Amino acid sequence: MSASAVPRSRTAVLTALRHAGELTQVEIVAATGLTAGTVSTVVGGLIDDGVVRVRDVVRTGRRARAVSLAGPGGPLIGVHCYLDQVRVLLDPGDGRAWSEAIRVLPDGHRAELAATAARELSADLLAAADIDPGRVLRAAVGIPAPVEVRTARVGGAGVRDGWGTVVATPGAFGPWPVDFDNEGNLSALAEARLGAGRGRATVVQVSLSQGVSGGIVHDGELVHGRTGTAGELGHLTIDPHGPVCSCGNRGCLQVYAGSQAIIGLLAASHGRLSVAEVLDLAAQGDPGCRRVLSDVGRHLGTAMASVCTVLDPDVLVVGGALSRAGNLLLDPLREVLAERTAVTSGAVVEVVAGVLGAAAPARGALLLAQDAALAR
Ligand SMILES: [Zn+2]
Repeated sequence: MSASAVPRSRTAVLTALRHAGELTQVEIVAATGLTAGTVSTVVGGLIDDGVVRVRDVVRTGRRARAVSLAGPGGPLIGVHCYLDQVRVLLDPGDGRAWSEAIRVLPDGHRAELAATAARELSADLLAAADIDPGRVLRAAVGIPAPVEVRTARVGGAGVRDGWGTVVATPGAFGPWPVDFDNEGNLSALAEARLGAGRGRATVVQVSLSQGVSGGIVHDGELVHGRTGTAGELGHLTIDPHGPVCSCGNRGCLQVYAGSQAIIGLLAASHGRLSVAEVLDLAAQGDPGCRRVLSDVGRHLGTAMASVCTVLDPDVLVVGGALSRAGNLLLDPLREVLAERTAVTSGAVVEVVAGVLGAAAPARGALLLAQDAALAR
C-alpha cells in the first residue's frame, strides 16, 4: 500500500459514513469500491483513534457490525455571519445538547464587528456550559461571501466589506483552528445531511432571505467548483436588462427574490412591511402579498429550471425566511419547473421547503468543523 493510499481510503470511508450515517463493513465496501481488506484496516484504525463506534446489528438475517461516526470527542463551535446578525452554536461534544446565541447587528456593519460578536458569544456559551475554551477542537464560520476553500481566500466583487481581511487574520474568531465557507453552502450542507435532503444523492438548496444564496451537495459533500462560487444561485441572471445587483451584474435572481425586493414591490400599496408581516398577510389571504410571493416562486422557477437541467438533482430544497410561505411560493415554482425541465426526464424534480429553519447555516458550520476535526 502506498503512503498516500491510507489517508485517501480513510477519507473515502469517512465520506461514506457521513453520507449514510451507519454502514456495515460490507456496505462500506459497496459504497467506496475499496477492497474488504482495506476497509477492515481503515475501520480498525478509525476505531483505535476513537473516530468511529461499532455496534452489533442483524442485516438480511446475518450478524454484522455497523460502523458510525463517534464525533470528534470534544467541543465544536459553528458560526453563521449574516447581513443583519451573528448566530453561534456550541456542540459540547459530550452528549449534551448544543446551545445557541444570537446578536443582531446594524445594517452595513463591517466584518470585524461580526467577528468580535462571534468571539464574545462563543465565550458566553462556553462559560454557560462550563467548558474551558482551551478544549475547543475547532470552529467553522459561514460568511455572506464566496470562499475559495482550498486557499481560504474570499472572492466576489461587491460582497460585504472586510471579509477577506477578517478571514486572513489568525484568531479573529477565537484561539481555535477555524474553517470558512460561504453561508449558503453551509445551509445546503446541513439540509442535505440532517434535513430535507437527508439520504438523497444530489441536493440543491436555495435560501431566500435578505439575500438569495444557495449550495449544491453531492453524496454528502459540497460542490465548490474552481473558485468557490459554485452554487451562488442568487446571481443567476433572470433578466439581462434588469436592475443592477450588488455583484455588478444586471437582473440577478437576488434582485427579484430577496426580501428587499418583495418589501419594495408592496411599499406603494401596503406601506413598509416586514417579511414576517408579508408572510402573515399572505396566509390570511391578502391578494397583493400572495401575488408577490407567487411572483418570487415563478422567478425562482426560471432560475432553477436551468440548474435542474444541468444537474438533474434528486431534490430542490427552498430555505430561508421566505420558505415559510410554503406552497404559496413553492407551487408557482413547481409549475415553472414543469414547463421548463420536461426535456431532462419524465419526472419533474421534487421541491420541498427546508426543515432546519434559520439555524441551518450554523448547523452546517458545526458539520464543517466536525469534518475538519475528524479528518485530522
Ligand atoms: Zn448578482
